[in-house]
Amino acid sequence: MEGLSPEQQALKGKITTSAIVWGAVAGIGVALLALWLLGSAGELARWLVTIILGPAAGYFTYRWRYSTGVAKAVCKKCGTAFGIREVSRLEQLLSSEQRKKVEQVKPATKIDAAVNRTVIWIEEKYEVTAVDECFKCHDRTERKWTVTREKDRAEVTA
Ligand SMILES: [Zn+2]
Repeated sequence: MEGLSPEQQALKGKITTSAIVWGAVAGIGVALLALWLLGSAGELARWLVTIILGPAAGYFTYRWRYSTGVAKAVCKKCGTAFGIREVSRLEQLLSSEQRKKVEQVKPATKIDAAVNRTVIWIEEKYEVTAVDECFKCHDRTERKWTVTREKDRAEVTA
């Protein structure tokens, strides 16, 4: 591969770091799961499986995340590796809805009356539009998705 520009290097570093984090989380998760599931197996078998499966899961997760990241960063137009970066992100409010939920709270003692707890909040739906641009040919592509957010959550006890 020809020399990478500082921008490409930075992007490569970011993909690598994120893949390492994913790998570490998966490795530790699988290791803990193996230790827990093999609770009744002998100590030796238990640790042996754990030290083999944990790092293996970590390694494969790392490889998978890294190659997905690298594939995503290749410009579809000019083929530049580590060429795609996000240049803008726009959020548009689609809807805003007042939501309400009433729960019965169990009385603390027998002589207390049961109370209702009302939780109110506002649920907002956003459409996010992100624009990716290639360093080299400046080809732009758009990605769209929606997110839901809660805000102004408040509790009313009556
Ligand atoms: Zn390009």
